[in-house]
Amino acid sequence: MNKKKTLLECHCKKIKIEIQSSDILSDFTRCDCSLCIKRGSIMAVVLLEELSILKGEESLIMYKFGKNQASHYFCSICGIYTHHRSFTSPNKYCINLGCIDDIDYFKFKKVPIFNGKGI
Ligand SMILES: [Zn+2]
Repeated sequence: MNKKKTLLECHCKKIKIEIQSSDILSDFTRCDCSLCIKRGSIMAVVLLEELSILKGEESLIMYKFGKNQASHYFCSICGIYTHHRSFTSPNKYCINLGCIDDIDYFKFKKVPIFNGKGI
């Protein structure tokens, strides 16, 4: 299947990330862990090799918490969460669907909930 390029940007546009995926919306979720509840993003799940940082890597900051130590990335200028590396699926990133301008973020009426609280 053909891979489509999708651009993900933080709010100030310092960070530009390209996702090359055949269907970026084939797997999406919300998570109920203490961090995800506060940031509130709907996330798509992509393979590590489908994500490339095009610009602004030096402006990304990483946050880890708790015992499981997933790496969560944010723009150090505008504070927007862009993506994180899953620890339950180390071959995958979760990305912030709100950072993709050509996706209608409000079309997601029923979003599966990932049990992050229980891990
Ligand atoms: Zn930014």
